[in-house]
Amino acid sequence: MTVYLVGAGPGDPGLLTVRGAELLARADVVVHDRLADARLLDLARSSARLVDVGKSPGGPVDQDAINEVLVTEGRTGAVVVRLKGGDPFVFGRGGEEAAALQAAGVDFEVVPGITSAVAVPAYAGVPVTHRGRATSFTVVTGHSRHAVDRETNWEALAAAGGTIVVLMGVAHRASIAARLIDGGLDPATPVVAVHWGTRPEQKSVRGRLDELATMAMEPPATIVVGSVAGLDLAWYESRPLFGRRIVVTRARDQASELSRRLHDLGARVIEVPTIRISAPHDGGAGLERAARALPTYRWVVFTSANAVGALLDRVPDRRAFRDTSIAAVGPATAAALAARGLVADLVPARPQADGLLEVFPAPPSATSRRVLFPRAAEGRDVLVEGLRRAGWEVDLVEAYRTVRLTADEETRKEVAGADAVCFTSSSTVTGFVEACGADTCPPVVVCIGPVTESSARNAGLPITRVAGSPSVVGLVSALVAVLPSSP
Ligand code: SAH
Repeated sequence: MTVYLVGAGPGDPGLLTVRGAELLARADVVVHDRLADARLLDLARSSARLVDVGKSPGGPVDQDAINEVLVTEGRTGAVVVRLKGGDPFVFGRGGEEAAALQAAGVDFEVVPGITSAVAVPAYAGVPVTHRGRATSFTVVTGHSRHAVDRETNWEALAAAGGTIVVLMGVAHRASIAARLIDGGLDPATPVVAVHWGTRPEQKSVRGRLDELATMAMEPPATIVVGSVAGLDLAWYESRPLFGRRIVVTRARDQASELSRRLHDLGARVIEVPTIRISAPHDGGAGLERAARALPTYRWVVFTSANAVGALLDRVPDRRAFRDTSIAAVGPATAAALAARGLVADLVPARPQADGLLEVFPAPPSATSRRVLFPRAAEGRDVLVEGLRRAGWEVDLVEAYRTVRLTADEETRKEVAGADAVCFTSSSTVTGFVEACGADTCPPVVVCIGPVTESSARNAGLPITRVAGSPSVVGLVSALVAVLPSSP
């Protein structure tokens, strides 16, 4: 029974530690705050229980109640991850949680996180120490009146001459600036305040210490005071798609690569799920039978990674494929096979049903002519008919169902407010229109190629640009060309 106090980092989900990711993937229970990034929570298994202990807007955080939850969950013997922003022991009340666990005799482990005190300035191009400018930095809270007025010795900080990083200081920034100036800090000392650092919403404002009180800013922000704040090694906010909100549809193989590239260029990616894969109508009975009879088939034909997974989940021993050849419609399906330890015998150059028919061999006269074809309930019949015409005996088995999804109100709002949408195939157009409706379409529409373009046009969507080359890279370049500057 261990409770893991895990630092989630400052916002960018890529700034979680390897240890943190590993524990999230193992967790039975994840206790998180209200604003925890959904992409971090996605790292937990779907069976993990998510407990939101974030304060409801306006209400105070009841730390005792959170401690109680951790002790109770910890005692059950489950793997409990307490996910906390930044580093758990930097103004995160992680110390109090650890003390409560210790007092209750529950084992705990602290997994440090990247603190916003260092990472947020870094994403604004400000190093907290710099040769010739600062030999130290102090992280200080500006949260409560009491702390600002009585607990913190601002005069000593002013005299120390290092960088001062203020967390939770937006509300009391006027008093903080006044105390530092009274303590002898030059009123012209550079200041930068960074709102929502490390996220696509990041916004930094720069000024002087004597302007801090009137600089426009909103919490959460990290305020840096000192000579280093005069440096501007900007890299994040100057990315080509920084701050742009871009819609992509999810479920197809390319979606994640596209999302990753857009994220790396600074965009906020809004992924709209358009389909869900669910169990076949017969609950898998047909697949079970087919799996048992596998050695009686001469070929198994796969046209999707989903079918690969569905059948192979029921074939524990790969030797069942000893006398059976395997065809894959294209590279993605072949890759899914390879991930399961099977090499496809046949992959056509043209990754389509008729491409496969062209290269599929004629049936043998002596051995089995049986072909097993596990596929989606709603698959097309081109391949089945073609193989039968060629003389094969095809057993069609339903491996899974694709259920079309409708986006919820919140997602539709987000989509409608986005800057652009990208389509990587006709099916992403159909999926988008069915999930969100054509009327939520963002103002800029970019398509991967002419076929996708005509599908989008037929669906009544306005086309802004078609990729110069029909690839994810081409699509991203087209997007950068039509959305040139930051908002
Ligand atoms: N344990 C956290 C800090 C918790 S206190 C850590 O180590 O980062 C919360 C304060 O941290 C906020 O009020 C703000 O001052 C700062 N902060 C956290 N995330 C931030 C972000 N993404 N951008 C700017 N400031 C942030």
